[in-house]
Amino acid sequence: MLVNAKEAVMEELFNQYIDQLNMSCLCSRCKEDVLALALNAVKPKYVTDKSKLAYIKAELVDKQKNTSMLVTLAEAARRVNENPHCEQHKKGRG
Ligand SMILES: [Zn+2]
Repeated sequence: MLVNAKEAVMEELFNQYIDQLNMSCLCSRCKEDVLALALNAVKPKYVTDKSKLAYIKAELVDKQKNTSMLVTLAEAARRVNENPHCEQHKKGRG
């Protein structure tokens, strides 16, 4: 089974720091948009074994890479805030 370890780590970071990202909308669409943007901006790290995921997570989260992934995440959140694609915002703006 092919798993992108970055996806798991990014998702975890996102949930951890969501309060600090000042998201104007927290619907599932906006959250997915942020994750998609952030993940497109980083190199994927694929593993074939889910059991390696915890190890890679620990490695990524411990080191400075964590910070750069967080910066990427914050940038993605900013872009989605400025230009949300969800229905909620479309309605709000008429
Ligand atoms: Zn939304």
